[in-house]
Amino acid sequence: LASRDFHPEDTIIDIKGVKIGGENLVIMGGPCAVESPEQIDEIARLVKASGAQVLRGGAFKPRTGPYSFQGVGVEGLTMMAEAGKRHGLLTITEVMTPEYVDICAEHADILQVGTRNMQNFDLLRKLGTCGRPVLLKRGFSATYDELLNAAEYILAGGNKDVMLCERGIRTFETYTRNTLDLSAIPVLQSLSHLPVISDPSHGTGRRELVEPMAKASVAAGANGLIIEMHTDPDNSMTGDGVQSLFPEQFDNLLKDLAKLAPIV
Ligand code: PEP
Ligand code: MN
Repeated sequence: LASRDFHPEDTIIDIKGVKIGGENLVIMGGPCAVESPEQIDEIARLVKASGAQVLRGGAFKPRTGPYSFQGVGVEGLTMMAEAGKRHGLLTITEVMTPEYVDICAEHADILQVGTRNMQNFDLLRKLGTCGRPVLLKRGFSATYDELLNAAEYILAGGNKDVMLCERGIRTFETYTRNTLDLSAIPVLQSLSHLPVISDPSHGTGRRELVEPMAKASVAAGANGLIIEMHTDPDNSMTGDGVQSLFPEQFDNLLKDLAKLAPIV
């Protein structure tokens, strides 16, 4: 079902008038984690003012260590839904377990599967019937074929609205947190009709690389970008402050991107 052979035309996912896929560029921006109602509301305001269409933010965080901040949980879903509604943004949030799919689907417009859960098949199966579009991140050691097979689990359950996301893979290089695999964008688009979104934040792990790799992703044909932005990145509650753009950088980046593709 994910293959172009099965479905030759590009899939276009229409969420409340925002079209994902085709010529339009979708921008998802916001913090790694929802921290408080004030934090997410202020970031939502800035994300909207810069012209992005979707607010990102994790209420449940898949942290490498069990003692790190794990996210504010269910309350974060409400905080984010309210901020999105107030500022006229769609919302995307990560869901980590099948048990939380329904509550996340109740509060968010798009559900995100993180890199660590790309092959959580119970989760993928549940997402097949969740009634919301899904952004499926590539596992950091997964091949294109494994990513497409993971998408297949969601599609097979009847959910046609799947986006593939390149978020960097693990290589021998340590300067960057991951290696953003730009080839994934044209390759996945040739193999599949599904929209391809790039994540230059996790793909590089370094704030100064987000702008060039965001532009490179669009040049390579990405249908959208998911970018971390924070009003106070140095004091953010996850380690991802180092890769989060300041609001002004996010704003400048979107002005440049709008010259490359329509953001509507
Ligand atoms: C995130 O989007 O904050 C995140 C945890 O992403 P990934 O699953 O790509 O590491
Ligand atoms: Mn993050």
